[in-house]
Amino acid sequence: MLYVVGIGPGGEKYFTRESEEVLKSVDLIVCYSGYRKYIERFRKEVYTTGMKKEIERVRYALKEAEKRDVALVSSGDATIYGMASLVYELAEKDNCKVPIKVVSGVTAASISSAILGAPLNHDFVVVSLSDLLTPLEVILRRVRCALEGDFVLVLYNPLSRSRREPFLRTVEIIREYGEKRGVDYIVGIVKNGGREGEEYRITTIGDICSNLDKYMKFIDMNTTVIVGNSNTKVICNKMVTPRGYLDKYKV
Ligand code: SAH
Repeated sequence: MLYVVGIGPGGEKYFTRESEEVLKSVDLIVCYSGYRKYIERFRKEVYTTGMKKEIERVRYALKEAEKRDVALVSSGDATIYGMASLVYELAEKDNCKVPIKVVSGVTAASISSAILGAPLNHDFVVVSLSDLLTPLEVILRRVRCALEGDFVLVLYNPLSRSRREPFLRTVEIIREYGEKRGVDYIVGIVKNGGREGEEYRITTIGDICSNLDKYMKFIDMNTTVIVGNSNTKVICNKMVTPRGYLDKYKV
């Protein structure tokens, strides 16, 4: 059996009970080498590979799962920019008949939303700014569509040392769009949410553009950025997207 397990952001209290039980029960855990520290406490045989070795990792997990119970671990939720889709694709391609079960986890958007206040309390869109597997033009088109729909916009994989252009172009698109409509969008930034080193900032797109260097030093690949919609506010020092109760019931 192959379990594809989301473990949340890493902190022990964010593992779901199901993922905890599965990881206790399996014979082998397969994961990215950077996540080893989060699963060592299960004292299992562990197989890791580095970044960009996803295909090798998944194939190894599928092969071993023909003989024993294996957990392939993703951070957050395995079906949200995780390994779950690749597992199904390779299982079909390699004609592997091993039963596959996905175990959901707490995704970065969810943990970041709670840390910031309640920014995702209305319709939202999630876009990854990584152009490793998706062309930059497709990413930017999706960002524009999110703005056009006045969705709250969650950005995964915002910025790495070698990938600065997607972030710079996205920020510029958001600023320009807001300027045309007279909106300085509220932006929440969460770094290392739910794990050691957790930090957050609440600001606006205008402030980010005026202090780009400062924010580009803060934001990294362990950071999620949430851009509010035109109605998002700062309330009690937190980032809040109202659902509309007060307007509807004239409170
Ligand atoms: N499957 C993961 C996402 C993998 S993509 C999930 O569901 O959360 C990796 C991106 O997720 C990172 O670049 C970052 O944008 C976000 N992320 C992952 N862990 C995070 C954390 N602890 N705090 C903030 N953002 C995080």
